[in-house]
Amino acid sequence: MSPASSQTLRVDLGDRSYDIVIGSGLLAGCGEAIRAVSRGKRAFIVTDDNVAPHYLDIVRTSLEQAGMRVDHAIMPAGEQAKSWDNLGRLLDAMLAVRSERKTMVVALGGGVIGDLAGFAASILLRGVDFVQVPTTLLSQVDSSVGGKTGINVTQGKNLVGTFYQPRLVLADTAVLRTLPVREVLAGYAEVAKYGLIDDPHLWDWLESGGGAAIARLDEQALQRAILASCTAKARVVASDERESGVRALLNLGHTFGHALEAEGGYGGPLLHGEAVAVGMVMAFDLSVAMGLCPPADAARVRAHLAAVGLPVVPPQVNGQPMNAERLLAHMASDKKVSDGKVTFVLAHGIGQSILCRDVDPPQVLQVLQQAVT
Ligand code: NAD
Ligand code: MG
Repeated sequence: MSPASSQTLRVDLGDRSYDIVIGSGLLAGCGEAIRAVSRGKRAFIVTDDNVAPHYLDIVRTSLEQAGMRVDHAIMPAGEQAKSWDNLGRLLDAMLAVRSERKTMVVALGGGVIGDLAGFAASILLRGVDFVQVPTTLLSQVDSSVGGKTGINVTQGKNLVGTFYQPRLVLADTAVLRTLPVREVLAGYAEVAKYGLIDDPHLWDWLESGGGAAIARLDEQALQRAILASCTAKARVVASDERESGVRALLNLGHTFGHALEAEGGYGGPLLHGEAVAVGMVMAFDLSVAMGLCPPADAARVRAHLAAVGLPVVPPQVNGQPMNAERLLAHMASDKKVSDGKVTFVLAHGIGQSILCRDVDPPQVLQVLQQAVT
């Protein structure tokens, strides 16, 4: 590892606590770090066919140099990897090499691989340890921290899974150089989200040049953003590991965003982070409509997200604007609905998000209608 340029953050969860290490060039020395948190001397790397050509060898070599025996599986890239079929194939591959209770599963990839490999680790032999080596900005600032794992089923995304914390997260900013720009920006939407939830200083920095620096993969800006994001997520997760309360604030932009994703079809016009960007703009518009938030704050949100290159209005599907009523129906069937009520994350302003269970559907519909043109 290159300790000179890396920073470590602790996620405090009692005996399930773990470190998040953030730095440039961590992959080359990842073996020692992973060995240090392993109970045995075996590792099973799970990656996808986009990531493998770039990074599988360097991770494998480093683990071997640290004295570990290494097996691996390469899954198809993309959301479809999070399926029963692929979970079954992955578990078969793990068992075929006689993985043991002390085998360490290494999730090397974006959120898809993290969710799938983490789920597999949580049920293989009733649970083996795993580490996250996230390779997308989204997974470095969001999905690799917090211990949610899972797959998609016919009934919807992420409906089957476990809460299962990793033993370590290694976020190497250098790997983002091979990530498509659109994916970088999609991850950026989640960074901006932390600013909007409760960190106005982060937001001010992003707006005044931090965001542009991240978009051009400036190392210092990336490290600062990942550290701030993981700190925010770790704090929320530590106080509400299983999402019974405040963790729901992390869903800012997601209730609208999930509706946009569902309406566009998965693998449709919007990446998840792009849907969240549009969703955050809608959440601020709704907050303004309800008299909770000054219009100037909503305008700043829209202007900054657009300036970095994220979408801020729903895309058209097959040349047609999305249908507002159908978007509303998707929101009512979201898995986060309880007792028939949707919990909205709204805001009193930038960095002042709140949970709100008393939102008038006609008011939501109006915001949707104004957005879809
Ligand atoms: P992803 O894992 O599909 O990665 C995006 C694309 O980039 C893929 O094609 C991948 O092969 C490629 N890629 C990854 N790293 C690369 C690199 N360094 N260089 C080149 N290409 C690279 O998508 P994602 O945005 O990272 O994650 C999305 C998934 O994360 C969704 O399934 C979502 O449900 C999940 N998620 C989970 C949580 C959680 O708390 N567990 C939170 C947010 C999102
Ligand atoms: Mg998200």
